[in-house]
Amino acid sequence: MNSVAGISALPGAIDLLIKGGRVIDPANHIDQVSDVAIAGGKIVAVAADITAPAARVIDAAGMIVTPGLIDTHGHIYEHVTGDFGLNADLVGVRGGVTCVVDQGGASPLTFPGFAQFVAAPAKTRVLAFVSTYLAGGLLGHKYVDLYGPSGINVDAIVKTARDYPQMIRGIKAHAEPGGFSRWGIESLKLAKEASRQAGIPVYVHLGTLWPEAEGKTIAASKIIEQVVPLLDAGDILAHPYTRFPSGFVGPDGKVHPLIFEARARGVTIDVGRGAHFSFANARAVTEAGILPDTLGADLHGYNIKLPEGGRWYKGMFTDTAEMEVPDDDDLPFSTPYGIHHTMSELMAIGVDLVDLVRMTTSAAAKMLRMEDEIGALSPGMDADVSIMRIIDGSWTLRDSLGIEVPTTRLLHPEYAIRAGVAHRADSELLPDLKDIAA
Ligand SMILES: [Zn+2]
Repeated sequence: MNSVAGISALPGAIDLLIKGGRVIDPANHIDQVSDVAIAGGKIVAVAADITAPAARVIDAAGMIVTPGLIDTHGHIYEHVTGDFGLNADLVGVRGGVTCVVDQGGASPLTFPGFAQFVAAPAKTRVLAFVSTYLAGGLLGHKYVDLYGPSGINVDAIVKTARDYPQMIRGIKAHAEPGGFSRWGIESLKLAKEASRQAGIPVYVHLGTLWPEAEGKTIAASKIIEQVVPLLDAGDILAHPYTRFPSGFVGPDGKVHPLIFEARARGVTIDVGRGAHFSFANARAVTEAGILPDTLGADLHGYNIKLPEGGRWYKGMFTDTAEMEVPDDDDLPFSTPYGIHHTMSELMAIGVDLVDLVRMTTSAAAKMLRMEDEIGALSPGMDADVSIMRIIDGSWTLRDSLGIEVPTTRLLHPEYAIRAGVAHRADSELLPDLKDIAA
């Protein structure tokens, strides 16, 4: 008998039967009420009214059942990256997510520690985009001088990618005004050199991360103009909705024309919701006809309230220069959120739920070049399944500028099933519904 609420014991050959949920599995073109049968940690069948005896049943009536959600952008190098790195399972299975991709926490120098102390013990499937920089994402890249070309070694990146071919799916890089004001495009060029040698994509952060070097100002459009020609099909541009004008949406409120050219060449786009999400820019990008391919939440310890003694992200890093970012006592970078909350935000501006499920399942698997292993409920695949529900009510969603958007539908996680093992979505990092109530 399992102690998890909502699961009851039954004798039989099926280990776990998920009964009566609305199954949305874009890879297999399924969107209907079905049962999902699991045995030996694998998907056995997806069909209406499976009557074979099952050892355990989850009653998913009224809920949404999808392939295990894949969060393509998380920060889970706990301890090594300081408060920035969250616990993998609090972001992962206990947040209703079966697979989390760490974006640039672990570096060519620190990857073995990540593999042994984060990925191996996690109940969540853990993948990574290795940092371009030898330092990795220490304290969320606080000390800017560590991140110039002299802190990058192409051979070391390529070797690390080859040492961990299953886990490392790409390389994390940045293209934003702080780095550009110091070194121009050079860091991204080195990242691309490693990416081509290793045969894996780069994931490019857009939007201000570091303050510009003293006395220098980088025109917002200059960055995109140098980045896009460098990219290959399969590379990823991140943070389309950032409120910073150096992202997709320029100071004129329009999407940069080169973004369309990048898409046409097979460059993909990841939401990377993060601490800089802007509803206005999300609408501008959506109205320009651009739906991102994948949806990473970009959770880290500086944009989410930690359970014990946590602290909010106090503006940009100001060790080396001044930067006009409001103090979060007046204007929080974000209210608590997670991947389901981000999906709710996009539903509130008109994105279809099925598109959002595709972004977090089959499209994410494609970005990771793992469509045969994850992102679908195909018989024989590992039984990675997410179960969520929509809570009807009156909710207020808030972006990083304090702009509020009302909604009546909030997605909320219930379970993550990883290789057949059910985990209740009980993470203390999940937003408190009281904070979102209108
Ligand atoms: Zn990030």
